Amino acid sequence: MLKNKLTSVTDQQELSQIYVANRRQRFKSEVNRMTSGAMREMLGDQPHSDDLSFLLSYLYAFFWLQHNVEPDYRSHLLSAFKNSPRAFLMGLLESSASGEEFVRGYINYWVAAPTESPVQRQQLLRLLALHHGDSEALAAEIMATWESFRLFSRTDAVAFSEIGRRERDRYGEMLSDADRKRLALVDALPDTNGKTAQFAKLGIIPAMGCPQTCRHCMFIWRPPKSQNQDPESLYQLVDAHTQSVLFTGGDLTLHMDHFYRAIRSMRHVRTFAILLNGDFASSSEETDKALRSMVKAIKERPGSWPGAHILLQISFDEFHQEVIADKHGALRERIPVEKIANIVEAAPRYKEIQLALLHKQNSLNFSMDLFHKGVFARLVRRLGERGHQLQVLSSAPSAREKSNPAIPGKRGSLIKDASFILNRHPDSPIMLTSSTIDAFGRAELLEAGESVREKEFLAEVLRRNASPGEGFDTDLMFWFNGWVTLFSAVHISLGNLYEDGAERVLSRQRKDPLSRALHNFDRSLLGYYSEIHDDLDERITMASSPHHLFHMLTESADVRLHMTRRLIEKAVA
Ligand code: SF4
Repeated sequence: MLKNKLTSVTDQQELSQIYVANRRQRFKSEVNRMTSGAMREMLGDQPHSDDLSFLLSYLYAFFWLQHNVEPDYRSHLLSAFKNSPRAFLMGLLESSASGEEFVRGYINYWVAAPTESPVQRQQLLRLLALHHGDSEALAAEIMATWESFRLFSRTDAVAFSEIGRRERDRYGEMLSDADRKRLALVDALPDTNGKTAQFAKLGIIPAMGCPQTCRHCMFIWRPPKSQNQDPESLYQLVDAHTQSVLFTGGDLTLHMDHFYRAIRSMRHVRTFAILLNGDFASSSEETDKALRSMVKAIKERPGSWPGAHILLQISFDEFHQEVIADKHGALRERIPVEKIANIVEAAPRYKEIQLALLHKQNSLNFSMDLFHKGVFARLVRRLGERGHQLQVLSSAPSAREKSNPAIPGKRGSLIKDASFILNRHPDSPIMLTSSTIDAFGRAELLEAGESVREKEFLAEVLRRNASPGEGFDTDLMFWFNGWVTLFSAVHISLGNLYEDGAERVLSRQRKDPLSRALHNFDRSLLGYYSEIHDDLDERITMASSPHHLFHMLTESADVRLHMTRRLIEKAVA
């Protein structure tokens, strides 16, 4: 029997290599970003900013290391750069006990350096001359400038809890008075169509809780689950309007019974998709047990019903499988690759289950490195230890070129979708599909080099009169607490199913001008936003994609009401 190591990569040495490689890449990207203009931009029109920029970029690097890398691993991380012309900086970054010490060391180094040194010496001497050669005064001013940025002043936990509070307030506005007024405007519109067409898919959120804390997760605060749920009537509603349903939310491991019941209840649905984080696959046995339960539910459907299958979507990326340190500095994988290997190994044995790994786009997506490095390589290694060979069957590019987050200024097409097989199951391809991360929730704090962003797509949307497509997915998402929201804009609610009834909610879906405008990335929403807020330019600068921008602009119920009014006025004008 194959050894199934549930402790995943139990070897701290292997974990430490992954941890250091990941942090080193992030460190390098951040230093490059700072030295190639970001710090200069932060300094703005401060006097002598050209001379200050390099030093402050490395002061940023010092605090970045303190904030993001466990002390035991800093030296190893920096060792890769110690043969470069900046070796002295690596030494300072490693040995300085504080920002002040780093700055003093930097000043002393250049003061003692030979005349024919690089430009940084001249910069430092000019700054020093402004303080009449008083290095303590210069160090104090540099530290004051640094502190004015207020960077790394909070722990991630504090920053996340602040973002969580904002999220809670935002969801607190869901179906508030302003939202109700908005929906009343929609209700008053004529329903020329009168009948809801079939949806390509519908979503169901049984619960939002999740014990994990992935750094890219869009949810920190989780709306509570209502006690008054009536899944059966919800299932019948969904069944009447689509052949494809997705169960999603937080970690649904403890809510699988709802999924099985849906499979047994929904006669017309052919595709039962579920998004899981893979945490359930703690052993081969547990994995088989879970997959067998899914198949059992499929087999329990009456023989006279249309055939159905399961689309098992498992999150698999550098964030879910990130190597992190606990408070004692011991390393572990957030969700071990070993668990994903359990699923990849088991799924091809069940013809009723199609496995799809959902991946977040990063710099590796720009070449076949996607399959030879990073988390995919770790999966190949784990499967190899069990005697499996993995073969990539196909890969397909994204529709648009995107910017490589690791190489500023470099654009290209990237691998969006792929399929692969295990050699023992050549007829059971496994899919891998990748998407970008919008800067919602925790992802607000991700560094620019960590994932692909859609800034160019945003610029294109802002430039064009007509939408280039790919707006918000406005199919419906049904929450067990009664909320009905848009599929990919879960802050836009069309009512409470239990209070408003299905007919009314569906008629809103047919008539809501705001949903339509979001689906089309209608630029008139920008103007309507500006009529009541004066920070549109700031929002555009902050946005990681058009979805992120339009999400930000519609987060407040008052804005949603105003936009709906203006869209209705525009339609009758
Ligand atoms: S990304 Fe998924 S697994 Fe991670 S915290 Fe969010 S819901 Fe949980």
